[in-house]
Amino acid sequence: MRKGLFIVISGPSGVGKGTICDILMKNKNIDLEYSVSMTTREKRDYEKEGVHYYFTNKMNFKKKIENDEFVEYAIYNNEYYGTLKSEILSKIKNGKNIISEIDVQGAKQIKKDFKNSLLIYLLPPSMDELKNRLIKRGTETQEQIEERLKTAVIENRNTYLYDYIIINDDLVTAVKEIESIIKNKIIDNE
Ligand code: ADP
Ligand code: 5GP
Repeated sequence: MRKGLFIVISGPSGVGKGTICDILMKNKNIDLEYSVSMTTREKRDYEKEGVHYYFTNKMNFKKKIENDEFVEYAIYNNEYYGTLKSEILSKIKNGKNIISEIDVQGAKQIKKDFKNSLLIYLLPPSMDELKNRLIKRGTETQEQIEERLKTAVIENRNTYLYDYIIINDDLVTAVKEIESIIKNKIIDNE
C-alpha cells in the first residue's frame, strides 16, 4: 500500500505556522491529519490537551526518550518537543498524509528518516513584523519573545534544508501557495 506523506511546517515562532495549519486542516480539498506533538512547555490559555499538544513534564518526556518512543525530538528554548511514534507511524503506513509543526532540528531528522517527506519553511516578511506578531499574540513574556527572536535568527539560516520556502506576508496568498504545493506532492505520491 502507498505510504502517506510526512509534511513538515517549520519557521520561527510567530511566523504563522499554527494559523496556516489550522486553515489547511479545515480545507476539504486536501485530506490531512495533524500530528499532535508532545511538549514540556507550559500550556497557553487557548490550547487544548491532545489537540494542540500532549503536555507533560521533563521526567516523563525523558523516560519516553529512553523507551525510544519518539520519531524525533528537540530542545527548543529549554523545553522538549517531540513527535511520538504512536501518533504517526501507523497513520503513514495506512496512507494518511500527516502535517506537523516541527523545528529545524526535528525537520533534519524527518528528512533523513522519511522518504515521503515534504519540508516547507515559513519566513516572515521582516523581523520587525515577526516581533509584532509575537507581541500581538501575547502568549509569551517580553523576555521569552526576545529569546524566541534570537532563536529565529539561527533557525532562518537553515532554510537550505527545505523543499520550499514561503513568505507569510498576506495570509490568504501564503495558504494558497502551500495548498498548491501539497496538492501537487500528493498527486506525485499516488
Ligand atoms: P506560530 O504557530 O508560527 O508560532 P501563529 O500561527 O501563532 O504562529 O501566529 C502568530 C500570530 O501572527 C497570531 O496572532 C496570528 O494570528 C498572526 N498571523 C499569522 N499569519 C499572519 C499574517 N499573514 N499576517 C498577519 N498576522 C498573521
Ligand atoms: P511553540 O512553543 O511556539 O508551540 O513551539 C516552539 C517550536 O517547537 C516551534 O518551532 C515548533 O515548530 C516546534 N515544535 C513543535 N512541536 C515539535 C515537535 O514535535 N518536534 C520538534 N522538533 N519541534 C516541534
